[in-house]
Amino acid sequence: MSRLALVRDPRFLQHITPETHPESPQRLVAIDNAIARLALDHDLKQLTPRSASEEEISLIHTADYIEHLYDDTERARKTDGLVQLDADTFVSAETYSTAKLAAGAGLTGVDAVAAGPVDRAFVAVRPPGHHALVDKAMGFCLFNNIAVAVRYAQKSAGFKKVFVIDWDVHHGNGTQWAFYDDPTVFFISFQQYPFWPYDSGWYLEDGKGEGKGSNMNIPLPAGTGDRGYLHAFDQLVKPVCLEFAPDLIMVSAGYDAHRDDPLGQQRITTAGFAMLTQRVADLASATGAKVVVFLEGGYNVKSLSDSATATMRVLNAASDPELGAIHASYLMPFAAGDAQHITDDRNVEMVNDRVREVRKHFSKYWQELR
Ligand SMILES: [Zn+2]
Repeated sequence: MSRLALVRDPRFLQHITPETHPESPQRLVAIDNAIARLALDHDLKQLTPRSASEEEISLIHTADYIEHLYDDTERARKTDGLVQLDADTFVSAETYSTAKLAAGAGLTGVDAVAAGPVDRAFVAVRPPGHHALVDKAMGFCLFNNIAVAVRYAQKSAGFKKVFVIDWDVHHGNGTQWAFYDDPTVFFISFQQYPFWPYDSGWYLEDGKGEGKGSNMNIPLPAGTGDRGYLHAFDQLVKPVCLEFAPDLIMVSAGYDAHRDDPLGQQRITTAGFAMLTQRVADLASATGAKVVVFLEGGYNVKSLSDSATATMRVLNAASDPELGAIHASYLMPFAAGDAQHITDDRNVEMVNDRVREVRKHFSKYWQELR
């Protein structure tokens, strides 16, 4: 029996970007093709998403912004062209309905894991969401799909504590600010640093008020690679997640930290993403939390589709012999001199130092880090 629901829909192709834009409909076509090639269709419980209502979207976004996006879409429709919102974010004739469907797909995923029998969901959507601010589109993102789903999960699906892991190469600034003062949502974000967006993502942004200590940024140098990410996961994500004890884990799964991605320089391999996913699955088993994974970035369609389907396979099977063999090759300790996935020793030291720094800073909030 499948334990993973896959939420996808051809209507996500209807949001159009300029011809050379990295966030293209081809990204989802490639994922569909990889699913078919691996015959995953038969293994997963496939769900068609519903649209989020304006009321549900307003759990995160202002009514004014929602209305603006509607108006911009109408303008695009009338001119039969694209409306540009910022340097790289565009609206086409079907953007508003597509963005509503992308936000709704997360709610479909939440409902699926809440009701069972699946306990994990992969939401294969575009446009992505984690940069979208409460009152503004940003960085290819229109509605913050994962943030809307967090609030919906708490309000309508009975979940209390949500642990959000963002491993997209860019900082999930929209999600961070949405829950910055909320102790019921722990936001933890890996990012290449310094990198776009340049005004957020440092580890001293650790929440405010009641939410102090429940926002953790893991800013990592370019070239961190698989072992650096896994090291940071084991030293930071795992202990705080176990102590936070969520009933729902959500992942902003961008695949632009892949070594073949044209935008990022983080050098994660497809196997590395499988291993990160395995760690998420292990945390879900340890805490009893359900899991909902959202597609965010990832702009090399080959590495994106390989890595996204690797995530699906790991989430669908607790123990896949093939993945177990890959796992074994990752059990070696992370140390200087290890050149397989890390470019040079200087990088290893930088990653180790940064992880230590972040751990020390957060040890005042979390016992498991002391
Ligand atoms: Zn990204």
